[in-house]
Amino acid sequence: MYDLIIIGSGPAGNTAAIIASRLGIRAMIIDKARHPRVKPCGGGLTPKSIALSRILGLDLSEVIEHECNEVVVVTHAGSYIMRFKEPMIRVSRRERLDEFMFNEAVNNGVEYINDEVLKVKETANKVEVIGRGGVYEAKWVIGADGAPSRVGRSIGIMPKSNAVALMNIASGNLGINTGDACILDFTRIKWGYAWLFPLSRSDYDVGLGSALKGRYSDLLLSYINELGLKPGRLMGHLIPYRPPNLASTRRVMLTGDALGLADPVTGEGIFQAMMSGALAALSLRSSNPTEYYNSMMANYINDSQYALMVAYIVYGFDSIFLSRFLGVTGFSKAGAVNIIEKVTGGKLTYRDAVKEVVKSISVSG
Ligand SMILES: Cc1cc2nc3c(=O)[nH]c(=O)nc-3n(C[C@H](O)[C@H](O)[C@H](O)COP(=O)(O)OP(=O)(O)OC[C@H]3O[C@@H](n4cnc5c(N)ncnc54)[C@H](O)[C@@H]3O)c2cc1C
Repeated sequence: MYDLIIIGSGPAGNTAAIIASRLGIRAMIIDKARHPRVKPCGGGLTPKSIALSRILGLDLSEVIEHECNEVVVVTHAGSYIMRFKEPMIRVSRRERLDEFMFNEAVNNGVEYINDEVLKVKETANKVEVIGRGGVYEAKWVIGADGAPSRVGRSIGIMPKSNAVALMNIASGNLGINTGDACILDFTRIKWGYAWLFPLSRSDYDVGLGSALKGRYSDLLLSYINELGLKPGRLMGHLIPYRPPNLASTRRVMLTGDALGLADPVTGEGIFQAMMSGALAALSLRSSNPTEYYNSMMANYINDSQYALMVAYIVYGFDSIFLSRFLGVTGFSKAGAVNIIEKVTGGKLTYRDAVKEVVKSISVSG
């Protein structure tokens, strides 16, 4: 029997595996795919993801293909170039990022088996992981199988909402003059945005995502066309947000997308996956790991309600009301860069960001 089985080898599972190996825990990763495998994603890493990877002793520089200190934000009220002190978005290709982290775990002694997990069954002192190819046993399980999560469904813990996002790797010579900047375009889709993240070799990660379900292939293809690029294979996936109050049962901890930890404002989920994976593995040092994990996640889950409030401000109040009807946007305000830097750097919670936004509105009003 293993001490720990980690189901899923994305940023959540790999981070959990790296920490487990360092703690000397006998751990195994089960993933239905073999690396390198494709995962639809923008591959954008914010400063807090980089800070966390440094704390974990991971040097991601070999998988980062581009750094954006400048971000062009397109709104109905106009376009703005936001300049940041540190790269706001470091762009990776997910197949390379995930393989890099997986290798780190396996080279440190974590075992790996290629199987698809169908469900998990908890008993008083172990968990049975039932896969297509066999049954595996462990004292503890970390569910890091993304969205929709089989592990989550087995234990009855699921995210409350899902956004949808579509991306592709487009290539060619960019037909607009934004230089090396990343682009976030809030005019293309309701309750979401389109992005362009430069990669190496004239490749671009181009996509769009929205909290509203819909068929967005034509919208994305016309955006790519306007950018003067040649589209690659379009791939879509859910981005679950609004986590439930509980992050674990007696022996199973849910992490990353399986728990619905993505940021409802930005769609960012890599940081949250790594952070929760790390906390889940670290919890195994406690006498009651799953309870400890729940208490560690409570603050983040609580803050996600404020994140939702900010999403309403950005996509409802700013994008629809201010920009479209009044021709102004919060992105053009002097304090916007500062707040964005603090939130994406992990120095400001959404709760405090809401307070700062309200304060700045009342001061300027
Ligand atoms: C189009 C798009 C763009 C995005 N862009 C960004 C971005 O730029 N920056 C950012 O931070 N986030 C972005 N996100 C969100 C981010 O991709 C996710 O939040 C992140 O991948 C979650 O990591 P995870 O480890 O929880 O799950 P995943 O990365 O989904 O990994 C889950 C793993 O589990 C495996 N698995 C699944 N089911 C089973 C099973 N039954 N048995 C065994 N293995 C299984 C899968 O093969 C996979 O390897 C984007 C999402 C989408 C859809």
